[in-house]
Amino acid sequence: MKIVKFGGSSVGSGQSIHNVLNILQNKYTSGEKFIVVSSAMVGVTNILTELAETASKGNDFKKGLIEIEQRHFTVIKEMITVKNQNPAFTQIKIFINELEDLLQGVCSLRELSLQSKDLILSYGEKCSTFLLSQIAQQYFSESLYVDASTLIKTDSNFGNARVHTSVTEHLLQEFYKKHSNQVLFFTGFIASNENNRITTLGRGGSDYTAAILAAALNAEEIELWSDVDGMLTADPRVVKKAFSLSELSYTEAMELSYFGAKVIYPPAMIPAFRKKIPIVLKNTFNPSFKGTRIEEHTHKNTYPIRGISSIDEISLINITGSGMIGKIGFSGKLFSLLAREQINVILITQSSSEHSITFAIEPKDVQKAKQLFNSEFELELETNKLNPLVVEENLCVLAIVGENMKQTPGISGKLFQALGRNGINIHAIAQGSSEYNISVIIKRKNISKALNAVHDAFFTQLTKTLHVFSIGTGNIGSTLLRQIEAQSNFLRKNNGIEVKISGIANSRKMVIDEEGIDLTQWEERINGGEPSDMETFIQKIKFLNLSNCIFVDNTASPVTGTYYKELFESNVSVVTCNKIANSSSYKEYKDLKDTARRRGVDFFYETNVGAGLPIIRTLKDLMTSGDRIIRIEAIVSGTISYIFNHFIGDISFYEVVKKAHKLGYTEPDPREDLSGKDFMRKMMILARDAGYKMEENDIKLGAILPESCMNASSIDEFYEELKKSDSYFNELKEKAEMENKVLRYIGKLENGKASVSLELVDASHPFYNLTGSDNIISFTTERYKFNPLVIKGPGAGAEVTAAGVFADLINVGSN
Ligand code: ADP
Ligand code: ASP
Ligand code: MG
Repeated sequence: MKIVKFGGSSVGSGQSIHNVLNILQNKYTSGEKFIVVSSAMVGVTNILTELAETASKGNDFKKGLIEIEQRHFTVIKEMITVKNQNPAFTQIKIFINELEDLLQGVCSLRELSLQSKDLILSYGEKCSTFLLSQIAQQYFSESLYVDASTLIKTDSNFGNARVHTSVTEHLLQEFYKKHSNQVLFFTGFIASNENNRITTLGRGGSDYTAAILAAALNAEEIELWSDVDGMLTADPRVVKKAFSLSELSYTEAMELSYFGAKVIYPPAMIPAFRKKIPIVLKNTFNPSFKGTRIEEHTHKNTYPIRGISSIDEISLINITGSGMIGKIGFSGKLFSLLAREQINVILITQSSSEHSITFAIEPKDVQKAKQLFNSEFELELETNKLNPLVVEENLCVLAIVGENMKQTPGISGKLFQALGRNGINIHAIAQGSSEYNISVIIKRKNISKALNAVHDAFFTQLTKTLHVFSIGTGNIGSTLLRQIEAQSNFLRKNNGIEVKISGIANSRKMVIDEEGIDLTQWEERINGGEPSDMETFIQKIKFLNLSNCIFVDNTASPVTGTYYKELFESNVSVVTCNKIANSSSYKEYKDLKDTARRRGVDFFYETNVGAGLPIIRTLKDLMTSGDRIIRIEAIVSGTISYIFNHFIGDISFYEVVKKAHKLGYTEPDPREDLSGKDFMRKMMILARDAGYKMEENDIKLGAILPESCMNASSIDEFYEELKKSDSYFNELKEKAEMENKVLRYIGKLENGKASVSLELVDASHPFYNLTGSDNIISFTTERYKFNPLVIKGPGAGAEVTAAGVFADLINVGSN
């Protein structure tokens, strides 16, 4: 025989009850024996709680009462044939009338005892279970409604009563002997004390009813039917990637549910465990799914942990003082006092110095705990042996659970790293000696981010989600979005990475969507977005507080960089192709790097130099692996590269520049390229990354153009001047040809000195054979002394630049 319990959502509407009946009919026709336990309709216990409180303040409770009545009446009309509806209407009406009298009583007295509250709450289960039994009667004529409060006996701890096991088992067994041939529908949640006053078994207590019945009647299995596919790795409402677990041990289920996985009520595990009865968590809305099986022994888990859960709101109490040191029994006394006052201690940590004890309790108990402490330890407080109690509020507990954790090193490291990377501060840690659970206390506002980050960290076969906020939708920005869109399946499948674009902004509009923007429609989304405002955009990123968050700057704006520091401080990584921040003052550059390092986030700007070519990364790798840079030589301007690579043979310098301009290789005013300023800034970034404290003025900038060209007041005039300077350039070219050399504009860093200048190089130089508009960089180092490490390739263009940004993005969080 099985105990089959249906939760509130399963009996919450005609449609769900329809599913329940299908489940029962399948059992019935296959000859399976079962007893049904039912919760109140979803939400009804909450409404009753509110009504009781409303009434106790003397306020009108009628509206809520009518709502409860209507919900049951609607189901009667939907699920019972008209000629059979009367008994159901009558009994529900009787229950509602009784309820009304009770609420009226509370209202007149302006007083709500825990005892009256339990009595009021019991009507939720009475109504739903009676109704379910009436509906079932149409299919199984021998259906019988059973008010379990007459059979389950408890102490008088109203609201959370403790069961008297032996008398309860006896009553249940006697009852079952007489009714085993019927299909029984037991009310969940409710019981009664020695004086037959109604008690309740705690919120979620219908699960407990099922387990009590199962233990008393030696059921073979307990099925708990809810609205989820069993126990998931985390609360599916918060962690979208949570997946269902096929099995769990009793201990694991206990730990997960104790720490908030509400799908099963922790005390329900006790009778089941005592009698070794398996519990199966099933989904009424997906009945063919196997669900989760809870048993004593399980197969080996492939993941280091089973699941993650959390308790939403706790307060942390810190007790400090010399009075505790070496004092045997202090903590014993403290915790028995708390137990005496029914204050539930959720977890405890004690420092090894014995100088402090920290424990977590529910916020509602804080006042009581404070009073208790102040009165019981008055003397110690007066003599300063104990310090006044300190309370930290707005906290919550996150717990990772699993039997595999035992003897597996590195689990806590992984947990702390996942939290640390996301800037989540840990207020206290507790690891049970069982090693089945590690709990950390963190700020409430971080819980969603923490659960998702920790879930990503432990279930790594799953996708790691990067939450990206991308600004700039010009050439590079839009190319990047297209590349991400095209690559997303591959990344998900092969790298376990999911790139979610959570926000896009340009200078006109912006859009933010926590769920991710569909990249096939980003243009429509941004056009339909709100007017762009950088400050608001940044504040929203901070407010959303998402895990693995990255800000991508594809603009040339001088403003965006001013937000990097603030973003780092909020644990957001930055990937940028905008080099304004890195080429401002050294102080600012250094501050950004330091802040990112301090906050444990990434600051990647590979595309600041040589677009997608791996220049910055190579330099970093050389340095971190202990190599010493002797010399860096570079051509890191595609435009200048093109111009000098083509300034050979009969063509004049003027013609080359014109051609480059026409091909779109230059800025609208070619002098912006030919001034060498941009080139110089790239050299400065390289020099800074190589460890030199360098400002713009420290770099010797050799001119390409004669003064007259630079001073020209318009572009047309500039070209005229350039034409006039042909002889100057021709001389340079002829000199080069005579010496079998070529002209190259080269940036150099050596002995801490940086320069950019026009040079003549011979065939032995790696830059001699440069073609097209390629960039080239050569690193001469201790290890690459005689044969420098050379990187060469296209150093401009939206496609390669976006690819460089993309690579940076994927690398965030990987080292
Ligand atoms: P019932 O009314 O059927 O007893 P509950 O509402 O008490 O159902 O519990 C089911 C709910 O528990 C789910 O809808 C889900 O939102 C929540 N829940 C929290 N943590 C978990 C988890 N780790 N696995 C499954 N469900 C969870
Ligand atoms: N109806 C009760 C509650 O909402 C018991 C249960 O659903 O298990 O807490
Ligand atoms: Mg429940």
